[in-house]
Amino acid sequence: MRAFTEKRLVVATHNSGKLAEMRALLAPYSVEVTGAGDLGLAEPAETEDSFVGNARIKARAAMQATGLPVLADDSGICVDALDGAPGVYTADWAETGQGRDFAMAMERTWRALEEARAPAPRRAQFRCTLVLMWPDGHDEVFEGVLPGQVVWPPRGAEGHGYDPIFQPDGHGQTLGEMSAEMKNSLSHRARAVAQMIEASFA
Ligand code: IMP
Repeated sequence: MRAFTEKRLVVATHNSGKLAEMRALLAPYSVEVTGAGDLGLAEPAETEDSFVGNARIKARAAMQATGLPVLADDSGICVDALDGAPGVYTADWAETGQGRDFAMAMERTWRALEEARAPAPRRAQFRCTLVLMWPDGHDEVFEGVLPGQVVWPPRGAEGHGYDPIFQPDGHGQTLGEMSAEMKNSLSHRARAVAQMIEASFA
């Protein structure tokens, strides 16, 4: 495992929420964090069929464009009774041609479970894969998993994406009903970042 001793890190995201989250988590370490969006980098097409494959595409594109070390992530919800779908296609299930509609994506997930006659509890996991890539192309991969179940109807207006239909194990609330602080203390992304910090930054 290679220790991270670089002074700068590009986070390969155009999502300001993700960038703020990464910046806060890395604040105790002396590294200057910059977002790919702030550098005007293009967003590459995510053409792989795995989280790690797509995170590597994002990491490599930003590393080659800047010559700097990069942190990229890919995430989604994997439903057991749907053989892991939507998985890497989590964002695609929300695509309408005119932007993303997550109410539609959540309903599509629920309908697929009904059609499969999946018994309750309808097990699922949010997964996040991080790729930390150095300018010489070396990378380290970290994974965070948040197990829980899909519930219906959606509950809560916090968070984003599929949060209102996902209830993490050990909690009575969906992610959509939790405060940002609560969600960020247990999320798949926070778990992946914790793994990375322990392995490469601590
Ligand atoms: P990406 O990692 O930005 O490509 O996101 C993949 C998709 O997974 C997005 O469309 C999100 O809606 C969904 N997703 C990822 N993490 C979460 C989460 O914490 N809550 C709800 N949806 C999520």
